[in-house]
Amino acid sequence: MKPARFDYMAPSTLSEALGLLESVPGAKVIAGGQSLGPMLNLRLVQPQLIVDISRIPEMSAVEDDGDCTVYGACVTHAAIEDGRAADGTGGVLARVASGIAYRAVRTRGTIGGSLAHADPAADWLSALTALGAEITAADGKQERRIPIEALMTGVFETAIGSAELLTGVRVPKLSANARFGYYKICRKTGEFAEAIGVALQDPERGRYRGVVGATEGSPIVLDDLPSLKAGTEADPGELRERLKGHGMDDPYEIQLHAVALERAIQEALA
Ligand SMILES: Cc1cc2nc3c(=O)[nH]c(=O)nc-3n(C[C@H](O)[C@H](O)[C@H](O)COP(=O)(O)OP(=O)(O)OC[C@H]3O[C@@H](n4cnc5c(N)ncnc54)[C@H](O)[C@@H]3O)c2cc1C
Repeated sequence: MKPARFDYMAPSTLSEALGLLESVPGAKVIAGGQSLGPMLNLRLVQPQLIVDISRIPEMSAVEDDGDCTVYGACVTHAAIEDGRAADGTGGVLARVASGIAYRAVRTRGTIGGSLAHADPAADWLSALTALGAEITAADGKQERRIPIEALMTGVFETAIGSAELLTGVRVPKLSANARFGYYKICRKTGEFAEAIGVALQDPERGRYRGVVGATEGSPIVLDDLPSLKAGTEADPGELRERLKGHGMDDPYEIQLHAVALERAIQEALA
């Protein structure tokens, strides 16, 4: 199937893009097109106007802001994988990027597009939740910051308004001795995950966070995990109980996600 007819504009400034979104109700943003393209082809979305934000220079910029590295929304997965974008996490982001889909998808797909799409199985959503990232969003009047835990309001739904753009992601730097583990369970390499486990141990910043992703909603955050605090193996029974406490009730899902987290913790502590 081919997309329904639409107008296409590729502004070169942020204010122009925001002006278009405000003046044309139902206009849709395109960044890398890796998720929007299939949705257009299947006619799941039929916007009157598509606003291509990939030619706005500041959307692909990467800046050092003291404790954080700030990534423009259109920085691609490949730029992070290749180290072309500065990384204040000591290679954690490059590692996560390299596990997203296939190289062709990573070349075009963007960090902001992935977060705005809000697929529960997306890698950035889980990884950046573990890192405690913040999203920046702007409309024509103001810019605001959204903690990543508050970004996703439902499956494929976010707190970003229809006349707003996700402009960037603020990723806190990690301490030199921080440890990170990431474990993704998927049937084939390059496919979306069935379960994601993420573990962060950063004593200098007081962070002992486990995250479970590819759930039926937002990633589940488990702060102050005893195994990460003590630097010892995780207790699988305890992980399963904590997932149940977060509303997970299917025994297969609980087991799959607990194993993903357990292996992420093992990797972080290895
Ligand atoms: C075969 C295949 C396999 C994949 N496997 C994985 C995987 O294993 N892990 C994974 O994480 N992802 C995977 N993806 C998704 C991929 O990572 C895409 O990059 C991502 O979903 C969307 O990014 P994009 O830049 O292409 O966004 P687009 O497709 O351009 O846009 C996606 C949605 O976000 C909106 N949007 C985009 N940018 C913004 C913005 N700045 N502000 C507001 N709204 C915005 C668009 O309007 C659209 O609704 C896969 C994709 C494909 C095609």
